[in-house]
This record gives sequence, structure tokens and C-alpha cells, in this order.
Amino acid sequence: MVLKNLPDMLRLLFSLILISSTLLLQAQNQPLRIIMIGAHPDDCDIKGGGTAALFSKMGHAVKFVSVTNGDAGHHKEGGGMLAKRRYAETQEVAKRLGIEYDVLDNHDGELLPTLPIRLDLIRKIREWNADIVIGPRPNDYHPDHRYTGVLVQDAAFMVGVPNVAADTPPIKKNPVFFYFQDNFQKPNPFQPDVTIDITSVFDQKIHALDAHTSQFYEWLPWIGGYADKVPASPEERKQWLAQQRFLPVTPEIKASLTKWYGKSKAEQIKYVEAFEICEYGSRPSEDDIKRLFPMIGIITKP
Ligand SMILES: [Zn+2]
Repeated sequence: MVLKNLPDMLRLLFSLILISSTLLLQAQNQPLRIIMIGAHPDDCDIKGGGTAALFSKMGHAVKFVSVTNGDAGHHKEGGGMLAKRRYAETQEVAKRLGIEYDVLDNHDGELLPTLPIRLDLIRKIREWNADIVIGPRPNDYHPDHRYTGVLVQDAAFMVGVPNVAADTPPIKKNPVFFYFQDNFQKPNPFQPDVTIDITSVFDQKIHALDAHTSQFYEWLPWIGGYADKVPASPEERKQWLAQQRFLPVTPEIKASLTKWYGKSKAEQIKYVEAFEICEYGSRPSEDDIKRLFPMIGIITKP
């Protein structure tokens, strides 16, 4: 191309600026991609369902993965039929939260941190092209939760290594890994690095949990010794579930809320979900956290 005169050059320059600013805008407006990984087909829902609903409402893409099929989570049912029932429950949750929900076909209660499952999780994170990965901490009463924590940690570096799970292209940018909130104190208590106000979507979260009939109204009351307390009517059940299924606002959580939302907004926040940064993925700055959790600082009424 020959540029004969100054106006041609200016036009070209103007076009280049326009193209690059459009690309930059597109990159900034790209939906975030979040993958939450739990051991059982209700773990992500309990610890991250509200945050998932907020992401989904804002146009971002969320996938839950259950590493086991949940086939031990009942006192009267079991095996393949229970796994099928629980899979159907996850797909109803997906509809209610506006997300995708995958279930891996590993037995419930028998999970081990094996290489094939690690490779499966590496593929899941890569295929989702995740910006954020959230899993349990590896300190927990339940061996499936513990080993899911180990499996996700073991995937954190390997998602970027091309020769590992070489059939799936490596992720271009290492995601930020987070842990779900828990109450275990040893060897160290959960640290709420990021706390999200889920008050506006709390009812939606409970509506999602309500889809796990086999768990919240059958198995968990039975194993917990309170099966006689489950209300009969669907509406009463949901209210009953809402009374049990909120995460406690501890002093540490309150301090985290104050950091991210400011003191006066933090005072108004009733329902929260909190996450701890895992040291093994990308290390986010405060600006990265605000970009990755764009709902931070925004208070909305239910
Ligand atoms: Zn679980």
C-alpha cells in the first residue's frame, strides 16, 4: 500500500486506533468463566450457589463439577439408580441457577486422589477455559471432600503444562484458584480473602438447593437424626431449608466484608459466601479480585 498524502495516513491511523480500541473493549467485556469443583452433587451448590447465581445474572459462565456421582448418599437407595436420581437433581439445579452442571462417574464415599481423576479435572478446567477455579480445602471430615481438595490443588499448576493430558490443549492463562468456606480449624482456619454479598440471590440459592430432594429432605435429615423435623409442604420445606443453609458471618467474615464493601454497606449484608485464595494458581492483586468478582461492592435488594 502506498500512502500518497497526509489525509490517507491519518485515515489509516484512525482506523488502526478504532480497531485496537474495539478489540480492547471486547477483551474487557468478555464474560468471565468460573468452574466450581465439589466432591458430591450438592457441594458447590451449598458453598457457592449464591455467587454462581450472581455471576450468571451478570452474563458470566459458571460450571459446577461433582467429582463423585453421589451413589452412596442415601439410606434407602443406592448404586446406579441413586446416581441417576442425583444427576437429574443437578440438572434441575443448573436450570434454577442458570449454570452448567457436570457429574463425574466416580463412586461416592470411595474417592481417592488418583492420576486419572487428576487428569479428568485438568481437562475440565482447560475445556471450560476457566478464569476462576473454586474447590474445597484439603482439611475436612469427609474423605471425598479432602481428596477433591487435593485433586484440584494437584491440577492447579498442571493445567498449563502441554505434555500433561496432552489430548486437551493447555490453558493459556493460569486461572486463580480459590477454596470454599469451611469451619475446620486444623492445621489452619479458613481465611476469607474474598467475601460476596449474596443477599439478593439467597432465595434463588435456596430454590436451587431445594432441587436436591434426595439430600436435604431425605438423606441428610436421616443421617443427622432429624428426619422427623422435615416439613411436609413444599413451601414450608424451603423456609426450613433457608433457616439452616446460610453460612455464618464470623468476625473474620465481617472484616472481609468491610474491606470489600465498606463499613456501612457491610452492616446491611445478611447472607454471604466467602472464598480463600489458593497459593498454587495465579496470584491475584486486589484489582484482579475486583475484575474477577465484578459483583463486589454492589448491594442489591432481594
Ligand atoms: Zn459433600
